[in-house]
Amino acid sequence: MEVPFWFVKGAGYALGYFEAWDVYSMEAVAEAAEPEQAPVVLGFGGMMMESAWLDRYGIDPPSCRMSATATLRRNLSDMPMIAEAELGRLPYYGEDDSCVLADPEQAADFVSATGVDCLAVSIGNVHLCTDGESTVDLNRLRAIRSALDVPLVIHGGSGFPTDVVRAVVEVGVSLFHVGSIMKRRFFEETRSVLLKRSETVDYQAWVGSRKDEDFLLPGKHAVQDAVRRKLCLYGAAGRHT
Ligand SMILES: [Zn+2]
Repeated sequence: MEVPFWFVKGAGYALGYFEAWDVYSMEAVAEAAEPEQAPVVLGFGGMMMESAWLDRYGIDPPSCRMSATATLRRNLSDMPMIAEAELGRLPYYGEDDSCVLADPEQAADFVSATGVDCLAVSIGNVHLCTDGESTVDLNRLRAIRSALDVPLVIHGGSGFPTDVVRAVVEVGVSLFHVGSIMKRRFFEETRSVLLKRSETVDYQAWVGSRKDEDFLLPGKHAVQDAVRRKLCLYGAAGRHT
C-alpha cells in the first residue's frame, strides 16, 4: 500500500483539507497558505461514497460496506488517487443520538480488509458544526493509533475544539477536513457587506470585478482568514518545502 504523499508520520503537524467550492474560495485557501508556507490539500476530483449513497444502492450491512470499499480501493490501484474511509458514525450538528464512536479493533480490521489509505475516525467530532463544542475521546484515539498504521483523519474540523488540536496531532492525526467554518464566514461577511450597500447597484463593478466594490471579495478575505487560523493551529505553517 502506498502512503499518501502528504503523510509524514510523527511530523508533529497536520494538514487541512479545505473544502473550496468556487474560484474565490479556492483562491482564499491558496492565498492563506502561500504567505504561511503551509502545505494544504485541495479536493479536486474528490468523490464521496457516503451513507445516503450507500443506502440508496442497498449497500447496508457493515460487511457489504467493507467489500464495496475494498472494491473501490482495488479499482484505484492504477490511478494516482487515494481512498479515505470514515469509521464509526459522526453525528451532524444538531443531532443528539446518532454518534457511534469508532472501535479500535474494528478499525484495524477494516483497514486491513479494505486497504484504505487513510482513515477518518469518529471520536466525538461532529459534522457541520462551527462552534467548537464537541467532546473528544483522546484515549480512544490513542487506542486506534496503536491498532493501525495508516494516517488518521478528522472530519468536522470546523467545530473541532481548538484546545484539543495539538493533542490529537501528537497522537497521530494527519489531516483535518474543514468546510463549514469557511462557508459560515463567507456567508456572514457577504451578508453584512450587502446590507451596507446602497440601493443603486453597479452590477459590473459589484459582481466579479475583483475591484474594491466586488461584493465577493470581503467574503473571500474572511475565508482566507479562517483558513489561515486553522493551518496555523495545525502547525502546518512553515512546513512547505
Ligand atoms: Zn465525514
